[in-house]
Amino acid sequence: MSNNSNGGFLDSVNKNFDKAARFTGLPKGLLEQIRVCNSVYKMQFPVKVGNEYQVIEAYRVQHSHHRLPTKGGIRYSSKVNQEEVMALATLMTYKCAIVDVPFGGAKGGVKISPRNYTTAQLQKITRRYTTELIRKNFIGPGMDVPAPDYGTGSREMAWILDTYATFKGGEIDASGCVTGKPVNQSGINGRTEATGRGVFYALKEAVSYKDDMKKIGLEPGLEGKTMAIQGLGNVGYHTGVISQDEGGVKIVSVAEYEGAIYGKDGIDIKKLHKFRKETGSIVGFPGTKKLKSRKDVLELDCDILVPAALENQIRVSNAPKVKAKIIAEAANGPITADAEEILLKKGIMVIPDMYINAGGVTVSYFEWLKNLSHMRFGRMEKRFNQKTYNNLVSLVERETGRSINVREREVITRGADEIDLVRSGLEETMINAYQQIREVLKRKKGVDDLRTAAFVSALRKVSSDYMALGIFP
Ligand code: GLU
Repeated sequence: MSNNSNGGFLDSVNKNFDKAARFTGLPKGLLEQIRVCNSVYKMQFPVKVGNEYQVIEAYRVQHSHHRLPTKGGIRYSSKVNQEEVMALATLMTYKCAIVDVPFGGAKGGVKISPRNYTTAQLQKITRRYTTELIRKNFIGPGMDVPAPDYGTGSREMAWILDTYATFKGGEIDASGCVTGKPVNQSGINGRTEATGRGVFYALKEAVSYKDDMKKIGLEPGLEGKTMAIQGLGNVGYHTGVISQDEGGVKIVSVAEYEGAIYGKDGIDIKKLHKFRKETGSIVGFPGTKKLKSRKDVLELDCDILVPAALENQIRVSNAPKVKAKIIAEAANGPITADAEEILLKKGIMVIPDMYINAGGVTVSYFEWLKNLSHMRFGRMEKRFNQKTYNNLVSLVERETGRSINVREREVITRGADEIDLVRSGLEETMINAYQQIREVLKRKKGVDDLRTAAFVSALRKVSSDYMALGIFP
């Protein structure tokens, strides 16, 4: 156990790594090289806040350089510490490998609570942090590409890009120095919802296997399943909305900063979100009752539990009380390694973070590709496809003698827009990765949980990259 204030997050990640490493047959030295963080950059810089100067502590950790650029979000939170950023950077390496995104893992953290600063002060901090990264060559489209994480969003990414462009405006690919940007500032449609949408595609795939569902006493399919969500931030919100609208899932409980609520007939997430904006709280939402404690959401009797907040939420102390059949780790590291042993013994299906929340980085990859290609997806082929489909429909009309109405024709002959391509690319990625992980689970003797299977799958890919570099035989 490490002597840190973070509940041993990095230890937990490494414990899971070690559990899986045994099944890979890889040499010890190579495993060690994969496991360690390659570069850790800690900075402390002054920012004038009001009349005083504050020293801000911040980090950027690059876990693995086996592929460049490295990639991962930037977190703004008063709890940020070196060990947490290292753990999160580590997870990014495996996450990218699992979904075949050709990047190494990284993560950044700024130790501030954003709610204590004005927009102008946050901008100042973000720009200064970016300048520190530029100074040490810790940012760039081919070097290290940040993105949003807890406490940051497209606004911060726009500031980062603008700062980078101020220094390196002549670089033709400068806009690829950061992802998760606003759509009108070199961003991509569908990035904001991407992590939540990825969680939804992953769940849909995971519950589609009859045998797997039988083992946990559930029918296949998402329709009608109950869900509890911890955290209504970007990830929790989109997971909820898309699961209810496109999957027919019934959300029975939501927890946020101010408390947790339960509604047995289902909670409309869009309406709840609006209610929270208006009243400042989810508590009191019509048709729901308040739960005693925020953490009660984790112990609710439901089919799917979605921890979408922070790490170390399910620990040895509360794991025995968890009643969900499936846990979808939308957050990074919500279950400690020791707690997971308890959950697995109880027969709970845990779909691990490094797979299920990889939708964000997957669409970040699409955004980066868009930036490097300097062209919106769909621009070249949309109209060509439309014409081809139109010709096909006309042919069918002629041959069958049946005419298709204008509405039907529009639906059938529509060429794909950027958002359609992003969603289809994301769905394909999530399904593919699940099948790879499930294959390991089925075929590899001794591997009997999805996290270990996901690690084995990731380690195979990362190790073969290292070998291709010629460093290891
Ligand atoms: N912060 C997100 C994550 O933890 C996204 C990272 C990215 O898009 O680079 O996966």
